[in-house]
Amino acid sequence: MVDIPRMMKGVVLPGDSTVVIGEYEVPEPGPGQVLLKVKASSICGSDIRAIYRAHLGSGPEAYQGVIAGHEPCGRVVKLGPGCRARTVGQRVVVYHISGCGCCPDCWAGYQISCRSRTGRRAYGWRRNGGHAQYLLAEERDCIPLPDNLSEVDGAFTACGYGTVWECLRRMNVSGADRLLITGLGPVGLAAAQLGRMLGVPLVLGVERAAGRLELARSLMYRPDVPLLDHVIDAEDDPLDAVVAHTGGEGCEVSVDCSGSAAARRLALEGTRAWGRCGFIGEGGKVEFDVSPLLIHKQITLYGSWVTSLPHLAELLAVLSRHDVHPQLIAGPLLPLNEAAKAYTLADEGHSGKV
Ligand SMILES: [Zn+2]
Ligand SMILES: [Zn+2]
Repeated sequence: MVDIPRMMKGVVLPGDSTVVIGEYEVPEPGPGQVLLKVKASSICGSDIRAIYRAHLGSGPEAYQGVIAGHEPCGRVVKLGPGCRARTVGQRVVVYHISGCGCCPDCWAGYQISCRSRTGRRAYGWRRNGGHAQYLLAEERDCIPLPDNLSEVDGAFTACGYGTVWECLRRMNVSGADRLLITGLGPVGLAAAQLGRMLGVPLVLGVERAAGRLELARSLMYRPDVPLLDHVIDAEDDPLDAVVAHTGGEGCEVSVDCSGSAAARRLALEGTRAWGRCGFIGEGGKVEFDVSPLLIHKQITLYGSWVTSLPHLAELLAVLSRHDVHPQLIAGPLLPLNEAAKAYTLADEGHSGKV
């Protein structure tokens, strides 16, 4: 029997680039819910962009002052009445949006797209998230973590790697493709790692920030895991470099992980004729000449938002089979009481995924 304390610590984000650690009662799981002891809870770019610096969302996307953290991985320590699948002691990843369970998007496992006004509640936004010692989750949102993956591996899949997996599988990325990635933050590095796992023989990455360039190059030159073949500085005519590295053709597949207009255009420009281009970096706008860049090049453009429950489960299974570990791109691992430092590091954006 696990000893569960009465009180726990949890992290709240007031929206002015500060972090507050509060004391909360450890929740009691209700029907169909499980109590998790949180083992890892990573920070996503959306936490920084839309909650930490300022509260940007509105309506159902608005942060409700709850315990933050939407990339949780933990161990089940208590089951509520009526739980049917999860067991005490099991390690699980939490799909970070709880849906109404009764709409077409939820039926397909895409709780991210659930349209219910009251039934859709994102962990770390509208209900308590993973930056705490314990987390109350719906049993149906929990996916078992394979034995050979770490809890940090699991946390990284809950949003970031899951989002990349969804886009790459939608674009049917395979060993027949060369891959261009614009934006080499944690999501871009995830795209490089998953692209490699899928057999991509040439991975090109473009980035503007000096710290991120350095981090990407350090992963490129590691002989055991050369994630990228070429890391290109966005200041140095990046399209020329992409063209040069692909025999004048461009890449079969590109994915923008930055959300910047220039990088989105570059992703389209660097895609070869009949290729596929995916946008997963959030926010901002883009303007481009549609005929030469999209229509005449016969490019298929994908917008892709997060992933589904079944595809997250599939990603965990595939990572396990390939013995591929997202923890590779981790920066410092910090305890809960250093959450303020963790957010500062994540906001600076060049120390790996925090
Ligand atoms: Zn729904
Ligand atoms: Zn996220």
